[in-house]
Amino acid sequence: MEVVLFREDVICLDVQYADMRPRNCENSGGINMKISDEAEEILEELWTVIVEKKSTLTLKGLDLEKGDKEVEELLRLDLIELIGEEVKLTSEGREEARGTIRRHRLAERLLADILDTKDTYIEEMSCKMEHALYKGVDESICTILGHPRVCPHGAPIPKGRCCRKAGWKAKRVVHPLSELDVEQMGKIAYIHSQEPEKLQKLMAMGVMPGMTITLITRFPSFVFQLGQTQIAVDKEIAQDIYVRLVI
Ligand SMILES: [Zn+2]
Ligand SMILES: [Zn+2]
Repeated sequence: MEVVLFREDVICLDVQYADMRPRNCENSGGINMKISDEAEEILEELWTVIVEKKSTLTLKGLDLEKGDKEVEELLRLDLIELIGEEVKLTSEGREEARGTIRRHRLAERLLADILDTKDTYIEEMSCKMEHALYKGVDESICTILGHPRVCPHGAPIPKGRCCRKAGWKAKRVVHPLSELDVEQMGKIAYIHSQEPEKLQKLMAMGVMPGMTITLITRFPSFVFQLGQTQIAVDKEIAQDIYVRLVI
């Protein structure tokens, strides 16, 4: 089970992000000239259901009909195909959907971690931002955020080229604690761990998002200052604590 601790003290256990999908994204007139925002929303839903949940979707399930302008647009661009009632992503559609989901979830991370946006506004704002976070820009944002693997709701962020490439130029703002220099200080942005026990251990020690943290030593273990307390953890745990540097 994947556990994510993010912002304040909200814990999501294998988050049911199916319902996190933007429902009321209006057309923000984004700079993506090729695909309309409405069509992008459909691609996102298709990605969530087909790729992430390994399930299927029909036009009816999408609340759409043949002849609807978004459906026609996606068919014309060769991004979806209709097999009977079922809507399938073409390989090009899959790539496009992957990019859209990535931009949406990166926008959420940006709003939550860097701009400190309140939870209630994140969904609404990220709906608008994803269309503006056009290709290329997402790689800089991803790098600044430390190539996050999950959105604030715990849904996976598909990797970009930047996540695989070392030495990407943009300056990172969020780093795993394990990559900080001695005496570097920041605020805990979020904690991401595959193991619930580790997360519970950290919480029991008072390690929470929003707290100021300073790295004291890197060897033989990672020792950090949190308020009046000094805590030692191994590298594995230090890699799970993501810190927003104070700049
Ligand atoms: Zn999300
Ligand atoms: Zn990246």
